[in-house]
Amino acid sequence: MKTAKLANSYRVDDGKHFRLKDFDPADTGHWHSVEEAKDQVQKDITRMEELQAMLYAQDRWSLLLIFQAMDAAGKDGTIKHVMSGVNPEGCEVHSFKAPSETELQHDFLWRTTQDLPERGHIGIFNRSYYEEVLVVRVHSAVLDSQLIPKSLITKDIWKERFEDIHGFERHMARNGTVIRKFFLHLSKKEQKRRFLARLDEPEKHWKFSEADIHERNYWDDYQEAYDEMICHTASKHAPWYVVPADNKWFTHLVVAAAIVETLEELDLCYPKVDAAKLKEIQAARKLLGKK
Ligand code: ATP
Ligand code: MG
Repeated sequence: MKTAKLANSYRVDDGKHFRLKDFDPADTGHWHSVEEAKDQVQKDITRMEELQAMLYAQDRWSLLLIFQAMDAAGKDGTIKHVMSGVNPEGCEVHSFKAPSETELQHDFLWRTTQDLPERGHIGIFNRSYYEEVLVVRVHSAVLDSQLIPKSLITKDIWKERFEDIHGFERHMARNGTVIRKFFLHLSKKEQKRRFLARLDEPEKHWKFSEADIHERNYWDDYQEAYDEMICHTASKHAPWYVVPADNKWFTHLVVAAAIVETLEELDLCYPKVDAAKLKEIQAARKLLGKK
């Protein structure tokens, strides 16, 4: 069956043998077109709405969804589309740009920690602490601008950061935050096509950034950094999904399926009320009936 655990083919929960080049950004699995996928995405969005209502009412688990990608891979569009059914009251999106002066006064997990979802909520990180092993790794000047004591910056720094992230995510998982991480895997060719489209379409001009074109020069370094990041931080308690991103409709399909599959695995249910509460409900019904 096409939909059974659709997202599993893209899930990495042990990075030992992981190689990014084994994943094709243009892959669409057994699916052929946006028309074909539309119904399934809609079904998943509806089911997500039901599951989120229980997550919220139960107030035990929280769900953290992390999105990382090269520019123009479709993070924003995916978040907007896939989360369109959820109740905004129980869902927060946070975007992380270059750190502020205050944020640089703290360790690299500090700023994102403050935005972690509370129980019953879904938190979405559009970029995250993973930038600390991506842009910070690709551009050594960024690491230099952090205020870390020089003696602590050694050749082991990336290995140490991977370990710390792994430990942090394990801690979160052990306390009821379910973490799912999405790398939207875009090809260099498709990125170029999307950048050109931004130049050609006036409504997309606001999205154009010269810096994005500059970052493209570091494409291979970024791919290497993503590869290592996934190798070292994919785990059972916080798996990565390497989501093909050359076709937006397929990205939406996989991400929606992954979220539904994750929520279905939790023991979500509405809280049961006790006998005293049931009595109160009966009394209230009587009272309302009289008026
Ligand atoms: P858009 O899709 O709208 O372009 P974006 O997420 O790319 O959204 P930008 O403002 O274009 O947002 O870029 C944010 C920038 O902030 C990225 O270049 C990212 O690498 C950078 N950034 C994020 N976290 C860090 C960090 N910890 N240290 C340095 N730079 C960071
Ligand atoms: Mg950008």
